[in-house]
Amino acid sequence: MTEPVTLSFDGPIAVITIDNPPVNALSYAVIEGLRTCFYAFQQSEATGLVIACAGRTFVAGADITTFNDPAFSAAPFNALIAEIEASARPVAAAIFGTVLGGGLELAMACHMRIAHPATKVGLPEVTLGLIPGSLGTQRLPRLAGIETAFEMISSGAPIPAEKAVGHGIIDHLADEPIPAAVHAVAEAVLAGEAPRRASELPIPDADKAADVIAAAKAAADAKPWLPWLAEIANALEAGTVGFAAGEKAEAEGFERLRATAASRALRHIFFAEREAARIPGLSKDVKPRPVKTVGVVGAGTMGGGIAMTFANAGFPVTIIDTTDAALERGLGIIEKNYAGTVSRGRMTEEQMRERMDLITGATGLDALAEADVIIEAVFEDMALKLDIAGKLGEIAKKGAIIATNTSTLDVNRIAEATGRPADSLGMHFFSPAHIMKLLEVVRGDKTSPEVLHTVMTLTKTIKKTAAVSGVCFGFIGNRMTEVYLRETDAMLMEGATPAQIDKVVENPAWLGLAMGPCRMGDMAGVDVMARIVNEWVESGEGPQAPSYRAVCRALFHLGKFGQKTGEGYYTYDGRKPIPNPATDALAKEMAELHHVAPRAHSDEEIFQRLLFPMVNEAALILMEGIAYRPGDVDVVWTSGYGFPAWRGGPIFMADEIGIANVVAAMDRFAETFGNAHGHWTVAPLLRDVAAAGARLSDWRPS
Ligand code: NAD
Repeated sequence: MTEPVTLSFDGPIAVITIDNPPVNALSYAVIEGLRTCFYAFQQSEATGLVIACAGRTFVAGADITTFNDPAFSAAPFNALIAEIEASARPVAAAIFGTVLGGGLELAMACHMRIAHPATKVGLPEVTLGLIPGSLGTQRLPRLAGIETAFEMISSGAPIPAEKAVGHGIIDHLADEPIPAAVHAVAEAVLAGEAPRRASELPIPDADKAADVIAAAKAAADAKPWLPWLAEIANALEAGTVGFAAGEKAEAEGFERLRATAASRALRHIFFAEREAARIPGLSKDVKPRPVKTVGVVGAGTMGGGIAMTFANAGFPVTIIDTTDAALERGLGIIEKNYAGTVSRGRMTEEQMRERMDLITGATGLDALAEADVIIEAVFEDMALKLDIAGKLGEIAKKGAIIATNTSTLDVNRIAEATGRPADSLGMHFFSPAHIMKLLEVVRGDKTSPEVLHTVMTLTKTIKKTAAVSGVCFGFIGNRMTEVYLRETDAMLMEGATPAQIDKVVENPAWLGLAMGPCRMGDMAGVDVMARIVNEWVESGEGPQAPSYRAVCRALFHLGKFGQKTGEGYYTYDGRKPIPNPATDALAKEMAELHHVAPRAHSDEEIFQRLLFPMVNEAALILMEGIAYRPGDVDVVWTSGYGFPAWRGGPIFMADEIGIANVVAAMDRFAETFGNAHGHWTVAPLLRDVAAAGARLSDWRPS
């Protein structure tokens, strides 16, 4: 194996090069190599040092897997960079690419930073529920000021090189940063300049410190469930006392955070998102098909958003609707959406034009003959979808992939109708499709590995977070949602109010979703939900009990569709939901009709009745092989349904509660309510995991 870190000499200047693909992450081996090379430099006659990287970026951060190691400590690396900073001979970092986290902390310990103009620098640790652990909270305020440091550390967002120069983080820009850094070090040697050590600098905007710290504390108090906010305030405040005090506060805070459920949850999601992109057992010989052009059928809500998603990624898109009027309407909405982005300053007029130019409308399916991928997004009507699938099977070129965006229909039937089921699958986008991160890729029984691989590769290009689902009612996400909505309606019949349920779901002390089920139902449309339930029931596959989702179905029957009709679970003042006594009366009426006994609901019962059956359904989804792995289920929920990432998704959250506790509660509910409809039957997998005292997140199919 080649060494990940090497020392070479450019005349009198030593150059340490880190080469640890893909992103030069700070693994244990890199840190050891850096130490060895730095000590060799100290033993050498070299007059100065440049720290550089091979590959596509300077160090892009720590190796995040090391954070899960109980023996992990930032102390050895921190001591090493302290020695680098203490060097009497000048040291420069030659940086390019994405210089994040530990990468920026290493660079800030050097006396100078010379950057390629396209470099981005940042401290993104908060996205993993952490604060910087290698003195980022101390050196950054001394280089850039406490105000900028607070902004960068609390947002986690990287900033471009030019801005970093303005803030004093980068000394200067150069197209060839390594020779430029060698030159800068040589000049410093000639000039006999004393090394500029960030840890010894005063905080340049110390007069603002009190205000910044007060703002940091206020942010922490407003969201006590995000524990890193208080640690940011604490580390910055300690740093105003002195570097040593700040160093101690940062180290303690980092270690406290590393152990929190919130940080472990965010790290779980970080890895789960990457794993969800992988297809188990895929042979290396399977290569993705080239995709250059895309077709979309249906210029409605979803079709428009899907077309924008592909245009945003640079794909020419042909979008089809039945009439010129429907097409014009669809294209008009796309244009309006882009114009909104332009007016918010997030896109230039020119970019908008470029994207609009990539989208071409047509009224005949023939226009899709050359498309590499075709996504059908017409009305949710099986007869219509089968008809279109058949036509696409005739029109599409050989090797084209034919996808459906159906939310609820049988993807296998639609795939068969194309006459080429190996080339067909589901691509379930979420609304609004150009904004929502999640894409559930629905693998049909006959979808070929090559086609699945092509689509999973494509999802990366269009910057979606993808998870694969097998074919079943609702796929992963909506199948679990159905259970959650079932319990919502059941509790309403028992006398809970929509506001009571929504409050528990929205409370970060319980779940912390942006919107409770009743508010969400009113927004998505009671009619949309009820139609899905009714069709499912009528198909004979759905639950046959007349009490099933009785409140939702009764609201639909009364024409109370939610926000769009001004009344659903709530009434509306504009978009503001107002508790609706008519809903309570309707729920009571349904309860009497279906002999449901009233009961009082504690917040804890509401929480458990919503989350635990969902987790049970997830266990069934795993047992049936619908999801490849537990993390995929959590990814679906955190990227598609607003489940807080700091909760790690429903399965991770249940693991934290303890699966044995989940099972015990399910059994208790079965006793309380009876189990006539099988709603409280515990999935065998869940019972096994509980009996083993294990975590469901760790389960893998054998
Ligand atoms: P929509 O009613 O907004 O749009 C459907 C469009 O299809 C309309 O413009 C209609 O004119 C067009 N259309 C109908 N028949 C056609 C034909 N024969 N050829 C070409 N175009 C035709 O519906 P939507 O909300 O965009 O939903 C589309 C699909 O996406 C459905 O399968 C739906 O279940 C699914 N979906 C919707 C959402 C959502 O939140 N709206 C989310 C995920 C998936």
